[in-house]
Order: sequence, then C-alpha cells, then structure tokens
Amino acid sequence: MCSRPECRVLTIGPHSEPDKSLSSGIAAHISGAAPGGPRYDPGQTRYERRGIENAVWLCHSCSDLIDKDEGTFPKEVLLRWKDEHEQFVRDGGGFAALPEISIRTIRGLTFPPPTGRPQTISGDDVARYREHVLRVCAVGQSTLRHFRSRIQFPERIVYWRVTDKPAGSELTCEPERMQMTVMASGAGSRIEFPGSRPPRVLNVALDTLPPRHDVTIHFVSAPNPENDPFIRRERDDDELVHHILGEFQFELHGQLIPRKFLIPLDFDTVTRQISSAPCEDDAGTRRVVLASEGW
Ligand SMILES: [Zn+2]
Repeated sequence: MCSRPECRVLTIGPHSEPDKSLSSGIAAHISGAAPGGPRYDPGQTRYERRGIENAVWLCHSCSDLIDKDEGTFPKEVLLRWKDEHEQFVRDGGGFAALPEISIRTIRGLTFPPPTGRPQTISGDDVARYREHVLRVCAVGQSTLRHFRSRIQFPERIVYWRVTDKPAGSELTCEPERMQMTVMASGAGSRIEFPGSRPPRVLNVALDTLPPRHDVTIHFVSAPNPENDPFIRRERDDDELVHHILGEFQFELHGQLIPRKFLIPLDFDTVTRQISSAPCEDDAGTRRVVLASEGW
C-alpha cells in the first residue's frame, strides 16, 4: 500500500500468469540519492543514503509528486508518513477488526423504564426470569455498516430493551417469524402455526456503528416449557445450538467488504446463565443448529 495517508492505493496485484504478481510500488528516497536531488542531505553517509531508514514506500504517482514539490513534502512530512503508515498497517491496514460482542447474564433483574405506575419485582420473578445483557462494540478503526446478527437464545425472550446506542444509528431488534413449523413424529406429522409464544430467535440489525461506539440491549428470558415438543433437546456435541451468527461490512479502498462472524454461547442449565465465547471469523466450518420451533 502507498504510505501517503491520502492515497493508500494497493501497490501489488494479480498477474495474468498465476505464479507472478504485479508490483507498482517504489521505495522512494526521503533524502535525495545524489547532490541536487530533492531533500539531499550532504551530512548523510553513503550507507545511510541507501539504507531502508531513508526510504518510504509509495505508489508511482505519489513518488513522482514528492520529488516535484519539495516545499510541500519536506523530509519531516515523509518521515511522519512512514511512521503513521507503519502504525496503520500494525492496526490491520484498514481491514476491519471483528467487533467485541458479548452476552452475560446479570444477577437479579433491573427495572424497565418508569411507566408512571408503581413497579415491583417479586422473589418469584427473580427465580423465574433471567436478564441478559448484549453488548456490541466496534473496537477497530473502521465503521461497521449493515450490521446483521441472528441470536439463538437458549430460552424464550419475553422482553427486551435497548439501553445504549450511538445517536443517529438505526437499530432494530425483531423476533424471527416462521410461517409454520412441521414436526414429524412416529405416528405422522403435526403442523403448528405461530401463536403468541415468545421467540427464542431474535434478529438484531444496525445500519452503522462508528469506531469505539457501543450498543447495549437487555433481554429477559423465561424458562422453556417442559413438555414443549418444539424445543430441540440440547446436545453437547460440537454443534452450536446457541450462538450468534452475523455479518457486517466495512469500507476499504472505496469498496464495501463483507465480514462474517460467529459467537458460540454457553448455557448453564442449572443456573440458567448465558455466557459468550469471543467473536470469531465465520469460515463456515462449524455446524450451527438452527432453531426449529418458531415462536
Ligand atoms: Zn500513492
């Protein structure tokens, strides 16, 4: 990539012959190579003049530019480009980092926003319900665009509330609606239409999440009915029964690049607490089990 911050064009690309590549970059001299050249420094030794410390990687047009206008591009500017570019590449070179996404179950329950009426949370509520906090944070340098995620919870979600999001970002949180669910059993098949049952699958979408910004959503879940035939028996093999699956886009070289992620969720069936593993790249190699019960 060209080191000039306003340019950063790629300096390597594919060649028509598969075992070759095309390079269009150049290690440009910071202080000129010969007397009379741009930014020539008579105090440099021959060794220093030819050293890597005296070079900055640029595309052809930027290397041309700096040699034609020494006044605009003195040595100090080029050294700063070199430093900043090395840091930029260390930070991922414009390739968006995966966001930090976590779900944790909190102790007890928080009150929903005031409604004007008195509110109570009883001991029974605390025993029956669990409150989970989802946090999404754009930790890299890039703005996340068209963020979509599908969360498959271990329990039915009876209530949710967005408690924090960047001003101006559009956020939607919707249950996944299924037209109908067909169950095959020994004696025949049974068809159920969606009723008013709370969902276990929610889609959370966000149009834009700027760097170092957060989204926080609280979810309250209730235990699954014991005799519900539509709840898949939870298994402990390598299939991910509870997870977050999602994707987002980021801008690189003027193009929107998609990136997919996967977050395995752990569910303690005794304490009914959810905890999330770190966000990982979804290479499509891990099997996820999609909820089949509708809502
Ligand atoms: Zn350039």
